[in-house]
Amino acid sequence: MKKRIVALLLTCVLVISGCASGEKNGGNENGTESSVTESSIAQESSVEESSAEESSAIEETAPTEEPEAEEGYVTTGGNPWIDSDLKENITADMTLSPKDDFHLYVNHDWIMNAQIPEGHSSWGAFNVVADEIEAKALALLNDETLTGHDAELIQSLYHAYLDWDSRNAAGVTPLMSTIEDIKGIKTMDELTDFICDMDRAYGVPTFLGGGNGTGLTDSSKYITYIANDSLMLGDAAEYKERTEMGDRTYEAYVYLAKYMLPRVGYTEEEAVAMFDAMLDFEKKLAENAFTSADSMSPDYLSKVNNVRTLKELEEASPVFPIKRFIKAMGYDNAKEFLLIQPKVLDTVNEVYVEENLDAIKNYMIVKYVLGNMGALDREAYEANVKASNMVNGSEGSLPDEKLAFSIVRSALTTPMDRAYLEKYDSKEVKTRITNMIKEIISVYREMLSEEDWMSEATREKAIEKLDNMRINAIYPDKWLDYGKLELKGLSYLECLKAISEFNQELDHKNTNGKVDKDLWSVDTLETNAFYNPMDNSINIILGLLGGDFYHEGMSDEELYGGIGAVIGHEISHAFDTNGAQFDKNGNMASWWSMKDYTAFQKRARKLIDHYNTLTAWEGAQIMGNNCQTEAIADLAGLKAVLKLAEKKENFDYEKFFKAYATIWQEVITYETEYMIYSQDSHPLNYLRTNVTVQQFDEFYKTFDVKEGDNMYLAPEDRILVW
Ligand SMILES: [Zn+2]
Repeated sequence: MKKRIVALLLTCVLVISGCASGEKNGGNENGTESSVTESSIAQESSVEESSAEESSAIEETAPTEEPEAEEGYVTTGGNPWIDSDLKENITADMTLSPKDDFHLYVNHDWIMNAQIPEGHSSWGAFNVVADEIEAKALALLNDETLTGHDAELIQSLYHAYLDWDSRNAAGVTPLMSTIEDIKGIKTMDELTDFICDMDRAYGVPTFLGGGNGTGLTDSSKYITYIANDSLMLGDAAEYKERTEMGDRTYEAYVYLAKYMLPRVGYTEEEAVAMFDAMLDFEKKLAENAFTSADSMSPDYLSKVNNVRTLKELEEASPVFPIKRFIKAMGYDNAKEFLLIQPKVLDTVNEVYVEENLDAIKNYMIVKYVLGNMGALDREAYEANVKASNMVNGSEGSLPDEKLAFSIVRSALTTPMDRAYLEKYDSKEVKTRITNMIKEIISVYREMLSEEDWMSEATREKAIEKLDNMRINAIYPDKWLDYGKLELKGLSYLECLKAISEFNQELDHKNTNGKVDKDLWSVDTLETNAFYNPMDNSINIILGLLGGDFYHEGMSDEELYGGIGAVIGHEISHAFDTNGAQFDKNGNMASWWSMKDYTAFQKRARKLIDHYNTLTAWEGAQIMGNNCQTEAIADLAGLKAVLKLAEKKENFDYEKFFKAYATIWQEVITYETEYMIYSQDSHPLNYLRTNVTVQQFDEFYKTFDVKEGDNMYLAPEDRILVW
């Protein structure tokens, strides 16, 4: 339901449609979410969320010539609507009409009063729910009377994170032995020895990484994914032609390099040269890597589904010691591997040579230092916050406790969720939401049987897929076992390492094994919703159940405009250009006839063309191709709940449409809006309201929208893919 930029290495969420927008700063400096399983201490080194008040220490240690935030961008010139997610476009005296700009009409007063809180780069309906969850979770984390192993784990990590005295006392010391180790490497053989020793190379980028994930062709079995290092500028396209976002990221990193590398023994001058040299080296790695646009393309999944045996990998990697590396990671017993980017492996083999030894060492040191600084002391942490703000256009920082909770949640998802559920009983809401999902699924059955452009055979398969859909409502009944993990008495960095090793051990057990689909692949406290094509599941989780999406005593209109529309949205992903590539069991197998699929694409084309006519601000034409699947899901979701509404007597459509516009209310920084505009698969929030509602007769009738009104679309121009 909400935007969620996934890291390629997070294999099991590779194609999950995390779908809304809302908290936009959920990714780290690479524009990817990282996890404790892959790079542990690097995981919250993000130029991302933030913490704590500015202290005087930062003023003393930070470089003085900190780059100014970019000024002078234009946000006006939107067509046919202004981008009302940007508060600078909104004034108190605007003329408001549902016929002209429905999103603004509903949300104007809210926008006028809304502020983006410190440490955030956007604020909206999703954040309100996340805040509710957060407050309850923090009460738990601070409750000393809590007992049980889950509570012990989450509180250990929480307090270790907040133990600034110990972290400050350690300073940069935790990084030094690894830096010295890399510096001491004299030959390629020694380099190979280093990268094939997981303990020595812990937290260091080593070109490749691996872990088990659901197979794409056969989703009942695990396959070992082999992915490559993420890039500092995030999108590989930034290395060919730098956008303003790439420029911002670059400036932020130069700032960090100038601050951080001197702390580990280099001069400020050396620091900039080292960073540029690292980027130059990355340029080669980026040359044939997938771009953000590639990952939003419908053929992306078939491009990543490259199944290989160990022998085949060895043959494809004549220079880089892939076999030894995989053995060192503990996956050499895997029968099959999924090589996400074969062309990047080719590049790795080209660059892994003696003449590049110094460049490789530099690449490792710079990325290791910048990637892990968020887990160090206060000074390093605050420099990170500044850099994050430069990229996101945000200000200030999150309170420490909130950040600590986000660390606990991402590193110890299962224990955190379980402790939360033990304290806050959610059985009743689970039953209610399960029933609501069933109800909307049955509406989809009606919708599918009415589609006259589809052949009978494809329709049958679609309905079969719908009937086979797994309903993951609120929380799972089965959990991973964290009983053997112990964190008591460990420092923050030691906790992260212990968790990383524990997760690694858990993952090794999955090699060649069966996927247990009762273990969900989502964090149930995340304020989001998902469709996972690899198990054909709809995930409407506890973290979204609050605020304007769902609360007790809600009217049907609010319920349908809130969580109902979200449920409808997620179900539709089973049938979009990604979902169409997976069958009812979650295996990658096309079930559409070519003729039907062509007809579907033709309908999608109309939507793409329509989005292409929209402009967010001067020079920012919407890229319909990038947001097609999410835009289709928005339309289908609203259609489904409107169909449900038909069955209700005296349904108040005005209330319903207003409730729908409310869930997309948002204020956001220009920098983050630009990020969504250029790299996200979701339409901008104000478009998610306006373009969606303007396709439905009920909207025209309710608000008396006529030809000549800004919200008007001629009937022949209206789009409904489903
Ligand atoms: Zn979606």
